[in-house]
Amino acid sequence: MYLNVAEIESAITSLDGAYPGGTEVIDLPHATHEGRTTRLLRVGTRQSDEVPAILLLGGMHAREWVPPDALISLAADLLEAHDAGTGLGYGSSTFTAAQVAQVLEEVSLFFFPCVNPDGRAFSQTTSAMWRKNRRSAPAGSTGPSCVGVDLNRNFDFVWDHKAKFAPDADVHTSDKPCDPQVYRGPAAASEPETRNVVWALDSHPRIRWMVDVHSAVPVILHNWGSDQNQSSTPTDNFRNPDLDAVRGRPDDGIGEFMTEPDLNIAVELAERMNDAARAVRGVDYGVEPAFGLYPTSGTSDDYAYSRHLTDPAHAKVFGYTIECGDTFQPVFSEAEEVIGEVSAALLALALNAPEVTDG
Ligand SMILES: [Zn+2]
Repeated sequence: MYLNVAEIESAITSLDGAYPGGTEVIDLPHATHEGRTTRLLRVGTRQSDEVPAILLLGGMHAREWVPPDALISLAADLLEAHDAGTGLGYGSSTFTAAQVAQVLEEVSLFFFPCVNPDGRAFSQTTSAMWRKNRRSAPAGSTGPSCVGVDLNRNFDFVWDHKAKFAPDADVHTSDKPCDPQVYRGPAAASEPETRNVVWALDSHPRIRWMVDVHSAVPVILHNWGSDQNQSSTPTDNFRNPDLDAVRGRPDDGIGEFMTEPDLNIAVELAERMNDAARAVRGVDYGVEPAFGLYPTSGTSDDYAYSRHLTDPAHAKVFGYTIECGDTFQPVFSEAEEVIGEVSAALLALALNAPEVTDG
């Protein structure tokens, strides 16, 4: 059975209680529109400022039921295996006891398993295909679809798509509150759930990688999503207003700049995640830049990576989106297989990220 919102919170509390040497619970500052408080579960035996860290997000889209369960499951597996001194296996993807210890001792994992609890509760009780959060409909707008914001269009990165993208760019976002899927919100980072993710990054400068787990394609996406990647023209980037009229078109000779070393790191880590996921039962997720699906605006993965370019005081954070499985709410026996794929991918990232990024 899928976890409900209360069960996700109680799992965080129980894991923290059962493994006090390997966990820390951190309250997030912004309550949701319905008044829910969410928390981070940090897993790792070192102090959070001693080792590089990975931020793991789930549940941003309400109807994607697998990711929050996957993150709770991975946290529990890691803590249990480390405590018992054993390895972990998901199908044919296996990790030794030494690798489990390496993850716990050489990185910190910040689990934010359910970013959008209001949406998940609504999806699990009332409207299964709900995607957005539960911000009240604006005055004068009526109808159930006028509630809510798509949190993965709300981040402060080329958020204002009408100003930042070519008129014919196929960017999937909307400024219409009654759009049932992709309403971007009244302002960038207007939503408490979005601001909690921003706070997690602001408050933990050792975070160097972020994975936002969604469903369902499957695919592993790396930066950028705003336009095709290019490594030849540094001035062609998201801060350049000259590109506002042309951003987001494929094959027009203009793309979003990423240095070649950074692009190599982004791809290399995504490939290692894909290898580990595929080893579970043979499903090849594949690796693509996020633009490979369609141009995106206001997404978490590009926001995370853009931060160090917007403000050099911020750490560089490689941003990923894993689109797991091939349906939003599979029967739970299938969900468990997908949870194995996500777990294996994230363990591969945790094992490889420090060395690939700095070496
Ligand atoms: Zn999603």
